Amino acid sequence: MTTRLRILDDGAWLSVDDSRRVSVSELWRLRSDDFCDCDLADLVVENFQEIGVDGSTVEVRVYGQCIACGTKSTTGWIPVGRIVDGEYVDLDRESVLRARPDA
Ligand SMILES: [Zn+2]
Repeated sequence: MTTRLRILDDGAWLSVDDSRRVSVSELWRLRSDDFCDCDLADLVVENFQEIGVDGSTVEVRVYGQCIACGTKSTTGWIPVGRIVDGEYVDLDRESVLRARPDA
């Protein structure tokens, strides 16, 4: 069974199997060495750039701004959900997210 992952409306939505699951304007607490100099970035998600699956984990790269230091940039791959038995399940995005280092 294939899961269809798409970015809709010029990066405003993540769509999984034709239903809109994650929107921009979420505030993510991101731990990433690459994005900005903050230990923990307060990232306002402005645009989804890419979506992919690593094993059962749904990952995205987003463009956004850290409201703590003002940096605007594109993140590395950040896990946002999982595919469990063919169904999309949100990860808890209220807790600290961690970008996966580029291989
Ligand atoms: Zn920052």
